[in-house]
Amino acid sequence: MLKTQEYIAANREKNLGELLELLKIPSISADSKYAPDVAKTADWVAEKLRLAGADNVKVYPTEGHPIVYGEKIIDPKKPTILVYGHYDVQPPDPLELWESPPFEPIIKKTELHPEGAIYARGSCDDKGQVYMHLKAFEAMMKQGEMPCNAKFMIEGEEEVGSPNLGKFIVTYRDMLKADVVLISDTSMIANDCPSIDTGLRGLSYMEVTVTGPNRDLHSGVWWSSCESSEYPGKNDCFHARRKQSYHDTWIL
Ligand SMILES: [Zn+2]
Repeated sequence: MLKTQEYIAANREKNLGELLELLKIPSISADSKYAPDVAKTADWVAEKLRLAGADNVKVYPTEGHPIVYGEKIIDPKKPTILVYGHYDVQPPDPLELWESPPFEPIIKKTELHPEGAIYARGSCDDKGQVYMHLKAFEAMMKQGEMPCNAKFMIEGEEEVGSPNLGKFIVTYRDMLKADVVLISDTSMIANDCPSIDTGLRGLSYMEVTVTGPNRDLHSGVWWSSCESSEYPGKNDCFHARRKQSYHDTWIL
């Protein structure tokens, strides 16, 4: 792998410059005012994928922001990796808490990052990671060391709950077929400690409709046969008491 490593080292400054360029685009998916910037970022990612050596690179429109896809099949018999990432970013508010403007990346040395780290919106969620995969792919492609097939699916709506990703995956399930999915929209324990995240927390939204008695019921008459949905607290109390009394009976 030395050739790939050499390529990475030789292109360090160029790649760093490109990454800073990417971070300057305010691809805020949650605010429609930035839709042209989100689209511009999708085109940017697609162009870099093409230059890296991917085939069938296309910006797929969705009902929201586009999804970028590209692939390289070096040998159908070899395993295929599908890289997932997102090029959209969170809104930068509240702006007054930023020490430097969110879309003007700077490299700063801190106690945590004595060698310097990039400070910009999206630098580690998820533009930095997407760019890393893209450049790793490019380095292996240019040096003829690509060990497997690769597919890239980079979306622009992760920060708003990926409303169109599911439909895209179902529609293009054959195109996206892979042996393993690689996601780096995560973090590392430490700079010198490669980490594999095995699970993430998420959000789920649901609407629960509870129906029950439409009036107060006398607890002495109804409590054992009718649960109150309107006053769950009150009912829980009855319920608990009932359980308790059964339990007491058994013990006795
Ligand atoms: Zn993310």
